[in-house]
Amino acid sequence: MSSKKKIAIIGGGASAMMLACVLDTSKYDVTIYERNAALGRKLLVAGDGGFNLTHSEEIAILLTRYTPASFLEPCLLAFNNNDFRDWLKAAGVPTFIGTSKRVFPEEGIKPIDVLNVFLNRIRKNKVEIKPNHFWKGWNEEDELLFENDSQQITVSTAIAVFALGGSSWKVTGSDGGWANHFKAKGIATLPFESSNCAVKINWNNGFIAQHEGQSLKNCELKINKKSKKGEVVITKFGMEGGAVYALIGEVRQQLKLNHSAQLFIDLKPELKQEEIEMRLNNRGNKSITQQLNAHLNLNDLQLHLLKSTLTKNEFTNSSSLANCIKNLPVEVLGLAPIDEAISTVGGIALDEVDEQFQLLKMKNHYCIGEMLNWDAPTGGYLLQACFSMGYFLAKKLNEAEGD
Ligand SMILES: Cc1cc2nc3c(=O)[nH]c(=O)nc-3n(C[C@H](O)[C@H](O)[C@H](O)COP(=O)(O)OP(=O)(O)OC[C@H]3O[C@@H](n4cnc5c(N)ncnc54)[C@H](O)[C@@H]3O)c2cc1C
Repeated sequence: MSSKKKIAIIGGGASAMMLACVLDTSKYDVTIYERNAALGRKLLVAGDGGFNLTHSEEIAILLTRYTPASFLEPCLLAFNNNDFRDWLKAAGVPTFIGTSKRVFPEEGIKPIDVLNVFLNRIRKNKVEIKPNHFWKGWNEEDELLFENDSQQITVSTAIAVFALGGSSWKVTGSDGGWANHFKAKGIATLPFESSNCAVKINWNNGFIAQHEGQSLKNCELKINKKSKKGEVVITKFGMEGGAVYALIGEVRQQLKLNHSAQLFIDLKPELKQEEIEMRLNNRGNKSITQQLNAHLNLNDLQLHLLKSTLTKNEFTNSSSLANCIKNLPVEVLGLAPIDEAISTVGGIALDEVDEQFQLLKMKNHYCIGEMLNWDAPTGGYLLQACFSMGYFLAKKLNEAEGD
């Protein structure tokens, strides 16, 4: 029988796979238990619409994208975006930086190829994979309970690392059902809420019939003191896109306070309000709509938004019109359902773990990845944090001595 210490990794997503690649298997017997027939289903889903693995910005700026920033700082500094790109390159996944500074696998490398790189590394590292193992909690001796093929299995392990994911896209296996087991142990969890998701807006039928699927390009969204430039897509449900996702934290807070939230759209972020007003004046025989088309290059969607927000008098007054072009108010009535969100907040409360993600109430039990209550916008930040947590914890466990 092996004299090596056992590590059970429960959940086989992004953070778990990096952990399994980096753990020292001359020191530990490592097994991954995953409920699905295969690892990394959410990783494949994430790769579907452009596989944004990380972001290339300076680490000091990258750190500010996380809420709360301080919680993830040690692991992001220990394994930053450049380290991750180097790691991927060495593993056979060269990456490139897109125009948005986001990092993608080089052309021709599909999400399944990236997943296979992880799986090959895991196999090479002699980590055992146990698919179709659904974790059901602990028994009275704190052993892990699994269901496999209708059989109940008990696993005794020296170290357990939970990497069970958040609660969106349940079809990938990450359904947040694990939270009750932690609650039963007295570990505080927060309810899951949508993040990186669409916002609900009550568009009128005429507007949506004409503009569903169209985008406001190069606009800036604002709420409180936060703003984000980017693209906003108009949908039947409301609005979505990178600029929307980046502000979801603020929107969520306002929704909790007021049951609605106010976003402002700057349709011309590159122009000052005075410049817009100047261009709207002196229009001679031109109608205001012609002037908006000719001198501000506004399209039908932008015009429709302005017309449905302003009274006729306000629309024909260059001062109020310029103000609305810079601050078009949009009332948000809710967030998309959790299952449709790209990620969730909620899960294990951060003050339940120490700086190495070990549960304070359960020694040698760790939690990593989206199952902890941190948040970040899309742009590669989510995966970077998950991979950094896996890498960081593996290194810490590799360095650990004795019990
Ligand atoms: C549509 C979509 C697009 C995305 N795009 C991007 C992107 O471009 N860039 C980016 O950075 N991020 C993206 N993300 C987010 C990113 O994929 C996740 O944040 C990341 O995968 C979370 O990793 P994790 O290891 O915490 O959990 P997951 O990858 O969710 O893995 C958790 C694993 O635990 C397993 N599990 C759960 N419960 C049990 C149980 N009881 N027993 C056994 N196993 C269990 C699940 O089956 C799952 O395999 C996207 C997400 C979605 C849904």
